[in-house]
Amino acid sequence: MARYTGNVCRLCRREGHKLFLKGRRCESEKCSVDRRNIPPGSNLRTRPRRLSDYGVHLREKQKVKRIYGVLERQFIRYFKMAERMKGNTGVNLLTILERRLDNVVDASGLSISRFHSRQMINHGHMMVNGRKMDIVSYMVRVGDVIQARDKEVSKKLTSESLQLNADKTAPQWLKVDAEAGTITVTALPAREDVRFQDIQEQFIVELCSK
Ligand code: SF4
Repeated sequence: MARYTGNVCRLCRREGHKLFLKGRRCESEKCSVDRRNIPPGSNLRTRPRRLSDYGVHLREKQKVKRIYGVLERQFIRYFKMAERMKGNTGVNLLTILERRLDNVVDASGLSISRFHSRQMINHGHMMVNGRKMDIVSYMVRVGDVIQARDKEVSKKLTSESLQLNADKTAPQWLKVDAEAGTITVTALPAREDVRFQDIQEQFIVELCSK
C-alpha cells in the first residue's frame, strides 16, 4: 500500500500540533513542533492565514489521516463503514482507526513508533491468534491475542520496545503482558480511549458527508 515517506515532522508542523509520529523523540527537546512551530515553507515573518470553515474541517481530516497513517481512499472507505454502523459516525470512525493492528501494536508499546509498528507487521514479525499477520490495517476484535512471531529477531524487536516503553500506559481496552510479550484485546475502544482527545470528529463528518 502507498504511504508517505517524507519527513514526518513536517506533517506535525503543517498541522501545528504534535502528532507523535516519532516515538520517544516526540517527548524530547528535539521535537520540531516545540522548537519551531511554523508551517513548512513559511517563515516567522509570514502572517498566519485565517482559515475558512472548509479549511478548518479539511485540516482536521488531514490531521487524523496523518496520525493514523491512512491515505485518502482508505480513509473514505473507513468513513463509509462508520456511517453504516450504529451510533455517532465520527466516534465510529475514530474507533475503527484505533482498531487497526499498527495502532494497537504502537499504543501498547510493542513498537517504538507507529512507523516501526507498520514495519514490524509488514516484515512479518507479528502474529494474531497464533497466525502470522502482515496486514497493517487488520481490524482487531475482542479476544484477539497479538504477539511477536516465534523467531528470535521478532521477539527481540518487541522485547526491546517494551523495555523502552516501560513507563507507557496501554489503553484500557488492551491488556499487555510485558513478560509474555502479548496484547489481548479485552473490549472494543470507546471515544474516551482514543489517544488524541482533542480531535474534532464532527468537522470530519461535516466535510465527508457533503
Ligand atoms: Fe511530530 Fe514527533 Fe517530529 Fe515532534 S518529534 S514534530 S511530535 S513527529
